[in-house]
Amino acid sequence: MTVEIDETHDPKRRSIVDAANRPDAEFPIQNLPLGVFSTADDPAPRIGIAIGDQVFDLGKASAGSDRFGEATRAALQAPVLNPLFSLGRKALRELRHIATEMLDERTSGSLVQQHASELLVPLEHCALHLPTKVSNYTDFYAGIYHARAAGALLTPENPLPANYKWVPIAYHGRASSVQVGQGMVRRPLGQRPPAAAGEPPGFGPCERLDFELEMGFYLARGNRLGSPIRIGEAAEQIAGFSLLNDWSARDIQRWEMYPLGPFLSKSFATSVAPWIVTTDALAPFRVPALPRPEGDPRPLDYLSDEMDQTCGGLDVHLQVLLSTETMRRSNEPAVEILTSNARYLYWTPAQMIAHHTINGCNLQSGDLIGTGTISGPSPAELSSMLEFTNGGSKPVVLPNGEQRGFLQDGDEITFRGRCHRSGFVSIGFGSCVGRILPSNSSSAAER
Ligand code: MN
Repeated sequence: MTVEIDETHDPKRRSIVDAANRPDAEFPIQNLPLGVFSTADDPAPRIGIAIGDQVFDLGKASAGSDRFGEATRAALQAPVLNPLFSLGRKALRELRHIATEMLDERTSGSLVQQHASELLVPLEHCALHLPTKVSNYTDFYAGIYHARAAGALLTPENPLPANYKWVPIAYHGRASSVQVGQGMVRRPLGQRPPAAAGEPPGFGPCERLDFELEMGFYLARGNRLGSPIRIGEAAEQIAGFSLLNDWSARDIQRWEMYPLGPFLSKSFATSVAPWIVTTDALAPFRVPALPRPEGDPRPLDYLSDEMDQTCGGLDVHLQVLLSTETMRRSNEPAVEILTSNARYLYWTPAQMIAHHTINGCNLQSGDLIGTGTISGPSPAELSSMLEFTNGGSKPVVLPNGEQRGFLQDGDEITFRGRCHRSGFVSIGFGSCVGRILPSNSSSAAER
């Protein structure tokens, strides 16, 4: 893998968009995350870059410019990012350089300034869409602190499975219910564990609805069926990262998941942030992989790469906020309930890709991979309700006195992510939001 810091990361660079130059900006010119947006005036979804409080319309900007290569220009006319990602990381790097130049304040009289009213759209006027057509979604289980804490609650007899330190564990998720994290999530119906052994299961709305704080990443080119991606090449296959919420119905999960893993407890919804922060934008924020404690096995050769161990981790500060209906009615802001960091992953994204494809399985452009819940070692870094309320037994107490063991209808969960490093401009991931709607229990009963 290569980690290249270049002139696009220069902290002195400033944008023609004022809001991008504020120290607290999530989308400074050093970030340039990709997404898909539309407006009321022009409802066709198109590709854009978030810059300050604006969206730079890449579809329009490239259509009239010969600066973009032909293949990139064609890919930028698509309503999703898959064709662009299929051109590979090199094309994404070139695009980053072109966009940096177009949005830099030193490029006076630039195309963007001349046509600012067409090419820059206020973010608040934009509808944001799913950035890729997700054909396949896989969710890993690479957060070892989560695996231990959740395992202790779900399977106390065997908290950390024997294979955990050898196999990057994952399951195939449901691609069709991946949604952009700006909307509503319906509380699922399903079977709940029997009250006592030998009793029939319960049925009804999920009573232990939860979130999982994860990062997601998107495939660039992918691989042909039968041709594994070697670990040393895996990082070149990641187009970029975003925030991901793997909504989870814990009661349904507990009853259904043995022996084949989660099914309906996860497939009702997965939310992703609308913006994909490219692998290139993240170059300054790479860190070593989580050190393996003394006594842990060395990964098998196909999962071992020196460069990956040196800089295959990511330093992203993660934050979860909760807002209840009562809080919103009295104009109280959302409260932070926990923080964590992407550096706590036991397996790196490159190891996940190498493992996923070692049997010949083909990954496709725009496929989505979740890391698994990223909990940290301290109690304030347990990154699901299951873990930090100890299975609901120690509810979190909110400033207005409300308590939550699991999520109630009307609760809104917001994920945020931010990278900091001395000498570099801090970048953000935007937010991934979902609000819980009551279940469809009445209509289910009618059918
Ligand atoms: Mn998960």
